[in-house]
Amino acid sequence: MMNRPLMIADILEYAALIHPKGEIVSARVEGDLHRQSYVETAARTRRLANALTALGVRDGDRVGTLAWNGYRHVELYYAVSGMGAVCHTINPRLSAEQLAYIVNHAEDRLLFLDLTFVPMVEALRGQLPADLRYVIMTDRAHMPENTLDALCYEEILDQRTDSYSWPELEEDTASGLCYTSGTTGNPKGTLYTHRSTVLHAMAVALSLAAALKPGSKILPVVPLFHVNAWGLPYAAPLSGATLVMPGPHLDGASLFDLMEGERVFSAWGVPTVWMGLLAEVKARGRLPEGFGDVVIGGSAAPRAMIEAFEERGVNVCHAWGMTEMSPVGTQGNLPAHLAAAPPDEKMRLKAKQGRKLFGVDLKIVDDAGEELPQDGKHAGILYVRGNTVTSGYFRNPEADRAVFDEKGWFATGDIATIDPDGFLTLTDRSKDLIKSGGEWISSIDLENVAMACPNVANCAVIAVPHPKWDERPLLIVVPETGKTPDFDVIKDRMGAHFAKWQLPDAMEVVEALPLTATGKVSKLTLRQRFADYKLPDTA
Ligand code: ADP
Repeated sequence: MMNRPLMIADILEYAALIHPKGEIVSARVEGDLHRQSYVETAARTRRLANALTALGVRDGDRVGTLAWNGYRHVELYYAVSGMGAVCHTINPRLSAEQLAYIVNHAEDRLLFLDLTFVPMVEALRGQLPADLRYVIMTDRAHMPENTLDALCYEEILDQRTDSYSWPELEEDTASGLCYTSGTTGNPKGTLYTHRSTVLHAMAVALSLAAALKPGSKILPVVPLFHVNAWGLPYAAPLSGATLVMPGPHLDGASLFDLMEGERVFSAWGVPTVWMGLLAEVKARGRLPEGFGDVVIGGSAAPRAMIEAFEERGVNVCHAWGMTEMSPVGTQGNLPAHLAAAPPDEKMRLKAKQGRKLFGVDLKIVDDAGEELPQDGKHAGILYVRGNTVTSGYFRNPEADRAVFDEKGWFATGDIATIDPDGFLTLTDRSKDLIKSGGEWISSIDLENVAMACPNVANCAVIAVPHPKWDERPLLIVVPETGKTPDFDVIKDRMGAHFAKWQLPDAMEVVEALPLTATGKVSKLTLRQRFADYKLPDTA
């Protein structure tokens, strides 16, 4: 058989020919709603490749982006990778110090930024490479005064034609770069290739075909600036689905209005975002018109959230993955033979982290590195392997030593069980585990029960030091507005699912939970805040 290289540019050119009616609809930073077809997107992407060539971008150069979800960001994804350079997406929610580290470590040559981020980059400029050039992603009319000597995105496009022949690249050519948020130590970069990206796009499009189909409207709330928006910029055009991009407006009301206006069928994002949308759904007493599917991942989807969607007729797909896995590893749509399972059983399965995509291998091992049975009972450290999994961090051999076993499998840092029929269940991130008297307690399981209790809007369970047991669980709760959660009621409910020694020793009420740069509850920050916490029996 022939051996043709898998190339990212082919996806968009294919979409332009085969799905010409597919669109990218974008809520712009400029304030309006913009729409363009995949045909127009492909043409503008070729223009952009010409512009990048004129700006001196060469094979392998890193081009940074600091931008929301929108069509220009998608154009950068394709133009930069397609011409043989590396599209380096940067998470603007990281600290200034981390941002400077990342841009310097990646040695970005150009930085494309949305209007929103101009002041931030101006303040950071002294710490960025002196020869870095800047392009602001807007038109001439909206160009702000700036101290970056920045070029204007639409202007550099206007100067070029849309005739460009994508080079034939080897499929192992680097195409994208994304740094993990690095809650400990410096952020670490995952360098994707054309091959890994195209294979991932095909696997996502195939596994989530119920949402990704011609004419279907998909809302990626998951950002293009982190974890490749779960592969949607590739999987949606490949399948002919339309992308509806929320730009900077991620609150419940804005999402509701955008979804309703565009008749979005499937929306993808982390649980925090869906809390906002569900609050809006409750306030308006209805769903956005056309909404029928939600993909939840990035951190555990609480069962109460899954039920809130499902009882309103929205199918929930609970997915798991990580930056180092391109990122999607599993998806939780139930297989056909379970479609008729009793509702309670269905919810129980949907609260698990789903089943693997084709091409992803999973194994769990004990502390000694011995592989454990996938019987749904043994919990172990989760390792992965596959064509869409990193083989080593970008220029960081020291980090590699900590995460690969001798057979080349990658340690995810998650603790999990795997059922005989392939359902993955995460019990914790290894660094969030609670170890009490030598026994592990799953914070995710405890949180799931607490979330379903009256008056609880959000919660987290963390370990606090204990003189006798080493660590004990502390429940931290955000109450529903004006309500007071009752710890005894919560403990009672937990008592039905857990042994007594596993229940939290105390509850603290807070106004809000701290979030990481990727919108997850920051347990690290919580552990620091409650480091000196005195539990009732030790006070
Ligand atoms: P970071 O947030 O640290 O930058 P990632 O976005 O790559 O990194 O997050 C990957 C991690 O997120 C996984 O290792 C896992 O701990 C967590 N995660 C992702 N999806 C889920 C899920 N559905 N349930 C529980 N945890 C999840």
